[in-house]
Amino acid sequence: MELKKLIRDVPNFPKQGIIFKDITTLLKDPKGLNSAADELFNLLYNKQITKVAGIESRGFILGAIVAQKLGVGFVPIRKPSKLPAETISESYALEYGTDRIEIHKDAIQEGDKILLHDDLLATGGTMEAACKLVERLGGEVVQISFLIELNFLNGRDKLKKYDVRSLIQYDSE
Ligand code: AMP
Repeated sequence: MELKKLIRDVPNFPKQGIIFKDITTLLKDPKGLNSAADELFNLLYNKQITKVAGIESRGFILGAIVAQKLGVGFVPIRKPSKLPAETISESYALEYGTDRIEIHKDAIQEGDKILLHDDLLATGGTMEAACKLVERLGGEVVQISFLIELNFLNGRDKLKKYDVRSLIQYDSE
């Protein structure tokens, strides 16, 4: 199934000059949702993943479905001050602005094999910060998956030491 056809381009959101890749059009399509989850799951043969960590908020949706398919737990990585218990945090530069993400200190144990998932790879700053959070807690980043990758922003350069996969790529805006 051609998943790319289910992604909607929204120009000038959340600010002028950004073409926002809207995945809600894929998520609401039952075949699209199913194929995306299956394809992400199929990337993981024999990886012995022990937890999936997804990045707020669009990384939660397919991340949690893939965790359920793998039979492992799901860990949310969230925007500042959203997680109730003790956290650690990392700052990062975004395609539009700067931000910080947090994870519960007890979400990952030494030796956990982690799949990190987010909806989209742009400059790679968010995912680089997520990798640092996982590694600070003793987890191993076994694979990083995205639904969408914006090749022209070279986000992979920040993630060179990892196994990075994406289902849909764009070579230009
Ligand atoms: P980055 O840290 O630059 O790789 O940005 C990735 C994060 O920002 C992801 O969580 C995306 O959801 C979001 N993001 C960045 N650029 C876009 C875009 N053009 N369309 C949709 N989401 C985006």
